[in-house]
Amino acid sequence: MNSADDRSSAQRPRRKSGGLSIVLDIGYLLLASGCSFLLWAAFPGVHPAAVVLFFALSASALLPLRERLRRSALAPSASGAFSPDRPTPDPAGLSAADIAAGDSPNLLFSLSQFMHSTSDLGILSELVGTQTLRRIPASSLRIALAEPGASFLSYVYYSESGCRRSEREGVPFPGDEDLAGEVVRTGRTLAADYSQACRERGLPEREPYAAWAGAPLPSGSAVVGALVLLRDTPFSGAERSLLESIAMIAGPAIDRARLAGESTRVTERLAALPRASRRILGSADGKTLGDAILAGARELLPCRAAFLLLPDSSGGWSMDRHSGLPEAPADFPAIGMDHPLVRPAAGDHPVFLDRLPEEDAFGSAAGAAGLPFRSAVSLPLRRKEKILGWIFFWNPLRPLPPNPSDERMLGELSSVAVAALEADRPQPPPGSAAVNLVEELSSLQRLDQELNSASDPSGAMAITLDWAIRYSEAPAGLAVLAVDGSFEVAAADGYPDAARPEARARPPMDPAHFSKALQSGKAVLVRSQESVSPGLLPGGKSALFLPIRRNEQNLGVLLLESGSAGAFPPAEVEFLERLASHAAIAISNARLNAEVRSANQAKSEFISFVAHELKTPMTSIRGYTDLVAQGAVGPVSQPQANFLATIRLNVDRMSALVSDLNDVSRIESGRLKLEFSAVPLAPAVDEVLEALRSQIDAKEQKLTLEIPSDLPPVWVDRGRLIQVLTNLVSNANKYTPPHGALRIAAERSSNRWDPAGPPEVVHFLIQDSGLGISLQEQKSIFQKFFRSEDGTVRDIPGTGLGLHITRNLVEMHGGRIWFESEWQKGSTFHFTVPVASV
Ligand code: ADP
Repeated sequence: MNSADDRSSAQRPRRKSGGLSIVLDIGYLLLASGCSFLLWAAFPGVHPAAVVLFFALSASALLPLRERLRRSALAPSASGAFSPDRPTPDPAGLSAADIAAGDSPNLLFSLSQFMHSTSDLGILSELVGTQTLRRIPASSLRIALAEPGASFLSYVYYSESGCRRSEREGVPFPGDEDLAGEVVRTGRTLAADYSQACRERGLPEREPYAAWAGAPLPSGSAVVGALVLLRDTPFSGAERSLLESIAMIAGPAIDRARLAGESTRVTERLAALPRASRRILGSADGKTLGDAILAGARELLPCRAAFLLLPDSSGGWSMDRHSGLPEAPADFPAIGMDHPLVRPAAGDHPVFLDRLPEEDAFGSAAGAAGLPFRSAVSLPLRRKEKILGWIFFWNPLRPLPPNPSDERMLGELSSVAVAALEADRPQPPPGSAAVNLVEELSSLQRLDQELNSASDPSGAMAITLDWAIRYSEAPAGLAVLAVDGSFEVAAADGYPDAARPEARARPPMDPAHFSKALQSGKAVLVRSQESVSPGLLPGGKSALFLPIRRNEQNLGVLLLESGSAGAFPPAEVEFLERLASHAAIAISNARLNAEVRSANQAKSEFISFVAHELKTPMTSIRGYTDLVAQGAVGPVSQPQANFLATIRLNVDRMSALVSDLNDVSRIESGRLKLEFSAVPLAPAVDEVLEALRSQIDAKEQKLTLEIPSDLPPVWVDRGRLIQVLTNLVSNANKYTPPHGALRIAAERSSNRWDPAGPPEVVHFLIQDSGLGISLQEQKSIFQKFFRSEDGTVRDIPGTGLGLHITRNLVEMHGGRIWFESEWQKGSTFHFTVPVASV
């Protein structure tokens, strides 16, 4: 609807509200018939008279609802400044009658339905944006969201003159410099003359439009953002109300989608951290170590470039390495101890800077190397009181102070980098007193390697205990893990049976010693008073409690015991403390791994839940579409039939996507179970071809089938074998032009493709003379969501999940899958499945 239409419609309010009435009446009748249909569907044997009676009952029950809808659609909304019969005097905006007479009630209804259909923020915003603009013409529409915990907003959707301006999205701006900030703060809709509103509030005027309207996006009791429209003509009261209603419906869904997106990002970063730690701790020398630290840094906090600064001889900081600079850097000046980029904040907190001193030499050098300063985060690499170096995140992609989750990640990164930098200190001359230290450091490096293989915190604890006992030659020791505020035994070694504590039990001793070590963050050495053992070892004379802590978090305690009163001299205790701090990194990494696993599990459960929930509505959309298309509720015109066919096609695509997503998540979480049996091949292949016949016929492709009748049955999950074949044959059909050739062949063979696999297999081959796959893309085609960049392929519907699932399914059967392909000539996919032994 363009604005000329809008204005003319303002002069015909009655006719349009009559139209709305009819729409409501039809909707009402459909709903009543829907209820009766459901009754009939649920109880097919029910007497027709009962269905008619039920129809009458539901029609009368739904009557009040129809009246309420009619009243609310035609009545003035909250502002009360207009009425349907009296268009608002504002000549520019839509009147209440226009809005009521248009399909706005339908819009709100369908919007609220759509809001549940996806949790993808991009899709939701697009939907809200396009639907709003269809009803309220405007030059620009934006969805601004408030940054959690900060007084900034950023756009998640920004469209201008019908074009999406994604470069404007995701860039934070201060909420107190924009009208949208006021809408978020006050939770009140604002429609105003833009310049006047800015002048009254002393805000900078940045927009080229005369009129501004913004409505709060609520979620629960909070306001999470604003839906904003701009144009040159003023907004009417009715438009303002409609905007408010749309924002009310969109707010919770947008917030939900934002949270879902954030939790995915956190999960990804949780997964990135152990990877980065492994790379850093496994670095062979100073150069690869610096590169590994910077690569890890940029993965955890994306930025244009990153610098590693280490101390220099002049007492300042010099650049050791950099990553991401577009040009080879000129010489970087050293930074003095008082430079704002390295002014240490309290604790390990990273420092955020959005301003450098004018004419700053370091900033100018970065500018000369292609990245002028916009903002930076600097992260101290601190060991106890000493700072060993700094990482600068130059022009972070989100120019905001790090939030608590960023801080946590950066804290972890800093500790790993510190441990690696310490281990990488220059080697002293042989024979010096420091030789011992070097030996210790190389032991620590070996310990790190071993620790990195531990998959859970208890495993890491057991390895640490083993090392500590070997190093200190203590006869017995205990590793205790902090779990939900109390302690449990993770490993014990060297105790006589009577004194050995059970794994996972509470340590059978006074927790005061543990607590003391944890609170002080230092080793606590207890010598026995008379004949009472300070620990668990009968006759023990010394007990050393070593705290294992990371970033103020208590992870556990190591207890080493000895029968000697002079055990654990200070130098040994110092080394053991360092050993414990290395263990702390591995243990917290192992904890993060466990968190990633449980986040993935939650994701997969969520997808299964959604897939299940979508099944019913999709089945009913499909059913009703077919019914209407078959003329069950009256004659269907050609354009209507075309629309219905489009709906049907899209529902089919959606249901394929949902089922693929469900499969992927079940494969990833290990919940996809196969039901093996001996399956004869010919009927399975027939079933596949039966389902794809119309697709192949529609393209008039020539199909050759070479399935020998004496093939043995295969040992597979029948449904999954059919899924594999269907996907490969359907791809061959989809990616082969009309009149092309398809060939499906199978043979029994010894397993020459996988000597470690089943000895006898059936080898399938699905060949096509189609588009082929370019060499460059061949390495990616089994990846999740991979689709060719080629325009012809992109025009063919697909999700990019089929081959990923197919490969997993084949491999879960003990088979192999591979292919050959030549661009523009065709592809041949092969796979094997085991022969059922007879
Ligand atoms: P989808 O077909 O849904 O896109 P798939 O995972 O089955 O997803 O395939 C991934 C991609 O691999 C396709 O998008 C296409 O680019 C390419 N591909 C798969 N099979 C063929 C084939 N037989 N011929 C050419 N390209 C293919």
